[in-house]
Amino acid sequence: MNIILLGPPGAGKGTQARFLEEKRGMIQLSTGDMLRAAIKRGEPLGLEAKKLMDAGTLVPDSLMIQMIENRIAQPDCGKGFILDGFPRTVPQAEALDKMLAAKNKRLDAVIELEVDEAALIERVSGRYTCAKCGAGYHDKFKPTKVPGVCDACGNKEFTRRPDDNAETMKTRLKAFHEQTAPIIPYYQQKGLLHAIDGMADMDQVQASIEAILNKI
Ligand code: ADP
Ligand code: AMP
Repeated sequence: MNIILLGPPGAGKGTQARFLEEKRGMIQLSTGDMLRAAIKRGEPLGLEAKKLMDAGTLVPDSLMIQMIENRIAQPDCGKGFILDGFPRTVPQAEALDKMLAAKNKRLDAVIELEVDEAALIERVSGRYTCAKCGAGYHDKFKPTKVPGVCDACGNKEFTRRPDDNAETMKTRLKAFHEQTAPIIPYYQQKGLLHAIDGMADMDQVQASIEAILNKI
């Protein structure tokens, strides 16, 4: 099964994608994570993207389409994938349709997480990640069990994203409303869209997603 998790920054896409990886053995394809990995490796693509990401604006479609096309071609994606952060524009959605058709693959569902703006800002402002294993946490909604120690791997170093602040969120939310929201009717017309309440707690959101996927 191949799905898209759609929603503004901080909606809970990464959190839910990780649940689906554990439960269903699907593969999370996060374009944001791929770009941050390219920055860490010092790749030219990463350096080009970093300025745009830090400012909260989108990276050009051509780069993102190429990146996801290469990733989807890898054999592990045969288990089913969860797109997280892609597509983010109508041209990206159209390119995705073409590349899937060329590989005899298809999308089974697009799940939209609906979360109001104040909650999004609170979620990104408190987000932090284990620097070693990448497990995700939140100061208020999902703190580590032992303060300062990763639940998953015991590491004691964490990172916070430079773009996870209220100021950059203004630009990121504007990009979402102007450039990404038009893909919602695009998938609605195809009969693939399922909107769910992303304001609920993480377990309830997970249950809503499971209920949708179990019917497919
Ligand atoms: P996205 O991938 O959509 O940007 P994340 O999954 O990283 O969002 O979630 C953003 C932050 O909000 C994280 O710190 C996460 O722990 C927290 N979070 C995710 N889902 C919920 C939820 N349903 N309720 C409260 N906090 C949540
Ligand atoms: P994310 O981790 O999904 O919040 O993405 C972080 C940043 O990476 C975004 O603000 C964009 O600058 C860039 N980015 C990630 N995915 C895409 C995409 N599909 N198209 C354009 N830019 C993207």
